[in-house]
Amino acid sequence: MVRLAHGNYEKVHSFYRQEFCEDVNIWNRDIDKYCPDNIIENLSVHTGVSKSVIKNSTLSSYEGILFDHTKRLGRDFWISRLGIYHRVRTRYGLAICPLCLADSPDVYYRKLWRLTPYMVCSIHWNYLLDHCPNCGAPIAFYRRSIGVKSRFKPSKISLCFSCDFDLCRSKTQSANWEQPSGKKNYYNFFQMIENGESSDLFSISSFPLLVLSGIRILIKAITSNNKYSKTLLHALIPLFPGLNFILQDATKQFSDFSIIERHCCLEAALWLIEDWPLRFRQFCQQNKVMSSAFIREDINDVSFWLVKQLRYFCFP
Ligand SMILES: [Zn+2]
Ligand SMILES: [Zn+2]
Repeated sequence: MVRLAHGNYEKVHSFYRQEFCEDVNIWNRDIDKYCPDNIIENLSVHTGVSKSVIKNSTLSSYEGILFDHTKRLGRDFWISRLGIYHRVRTRYGLAICPLCLADSPDVYYRKLWRLTPYMVCSIHWNYLLDHCPNCGAPIAFYRRSIGVKSRFKPSKISLCFSCDFDLCRSKTQSANWEQPSGKKNYYNFFQMIENGESSDLFSISSFPLLVLSGIRILIKAITSNNKYSKTLLHALIPLFPGLNFILQDATKQFSDFSIIERHCCLEAALWLIEDWPLRFRQFCQQNKVMSSAFIREDINDVSFWLVKQLRYFCFP
């Protein structure tokens, strides 16, 4: 939508206000997550692009894979929060791979970059970046034309809205993997999300929604650091030293962690379900991890594959 406005030599807000969405709030909502039908309809009419293609460019394309429906309000575990305050973003809800951003002549932001578990580029294998390295501002490319009083001249949307630093030039850091299978598991995890079906590695179910509901429970158990789940965390730390940070601050949730912290949590959760259920069963029994470490209000029928193991093979 930003590129469309700039292609018409217009400021983003003026363009959409004048052209077709006069009475619809676009920029004070998470438009990636929930794009109202009338905006999709209008975009389709004005651009000739089909409604299904437009809808597929939003996060609602992950319905049935990451979640059963997109919430208009509230939190989704797998989607980074933007911290919307009017037109301002207070959180680092959009991350980028600077190398991917620089890769295409027509710079664009990938929808995968809004997902909380996508912390490493699966093409370049570096950590993503969730803020401008020059000034620390969140990445909010749509804000470049805010406050411009003179006639607007379109500029690259890879420039930081706050300091004009070209995010394509950001330094990158190669991802660290604590276990030899980490990179392969991560790759398969995102293949599952992108293809909408589970790979051989996750022999749990061919439905990503089912697999992901259990992985979410594992991540919550690893990161909660309460008296019930401590055994699990302490048993994992020798294998994943990067998890040490959870011991220092137990108040934060997965979406509040830094890119590197989240990456380590996901790697540990995927390692636990490798060779399902043998590794998990052995690990819990050897380390006396109790089923209460995992019991959460969101355990339900969807995660039956995990519940079954907890019921029969973990300490009560
Ligand atoms: Zn990349
Ligand atoms: Zn900046």
